[in-house]
Amino acid sequence: MKTGKWERRTERASELASSHPFASQGLRFYERLARFQKSLYAEIEAECGSGKEKRLSGTLRGEFDVFMLLPRFAPFVSALEGIAPCPLASSVRELRLQDAGRWQRILREFWELSPVALNLQPAEELVAWLFLQPYAEYLADHSEWDYRDGTASTCPVCGSKPQVGVLRPEGEGGKRSLICSLCAMEWDYGRIGCAACREEDPQKLALYSAKEFGYVRVEACESCRRYIKTVDLTKNGHAVPVVDELAMIPLDLWAAERGYQKIHPNLLGI
Ligand SMILES: [Zn+2]
Ligand SMILES: [Zn+2]
Repeated sequence: MKTGKWERRTERASELASSHPFASQGLRFYERLARFQKSLYAEIEAECGSGKEKRLSGTLRGEFDVFMLLPRFAPFVSALEGIAPCPLASSVRELRLQDAGRWQRILREFWELSPVALNLQPAEELVAWLFLQPYAEYLADHSEWDYRDGTASTCPVCGSKPQVGVLRPEGEGGKRSLICSLCAMEWDYGRIGCAACREEDPQKLALYSAKEFGYVRVEACESCRRYIKTVDLTKNGHAVPVVDELAMIPLDLWAAERGYQKIHPNLLGI
């Protein structure tokens, strides 16, 4: 079972919550959430198997095992209600009181990127996203994809937007990739180029980092006014990109003050 990565996430969240008090509430929430997600991932793996299936790239959202997922939704929502920060907890409670038919529609519409999904309440969309992440990640991990190194700005296996960028050591420098906001797949992306619109003109691309945490930078684009944060593992090998992304709130404030919009908000709504 691939649980090692879940442990690395929760341990990193706990570590950062202690060292970054301004982000500790969100990180403690994430730490507890990731424990539930880890259990869900383990249950899915126990039920669906730990082997790998051949799948065509881009087809991840074509699978939706409602009989396996739906019975697990109510316990997940109850658990989430118990750990969510205040305004979210009351929205989650409203969702918990709805019937299974409504839950099924929410999950399916979110998963299938249905145009009706645009009518989902923000809290419904958030809960569907958090619940379906381990399922998407299970499918991504247990597949042999026919094509893994996409160069598009959306995930090559599920089509979602990236959550965070990464620089990994390669030769003298770093190799840049993007991590999917839904299935956590990481795909190679060029060294330069906006992660939303692929703009490559250096005049239109801005990089910003703060000296207290110089291993994370904002990559902002003047053409589409979007930004993403990128975690440089050549500078900090202990970082866990999806978790460090949550902690670096001052960088988001810098971007928001300049009117940039994040490519995909994180689970704290930032
Ligand atoms: Zn994906
Ligand atoms: Zn752009």
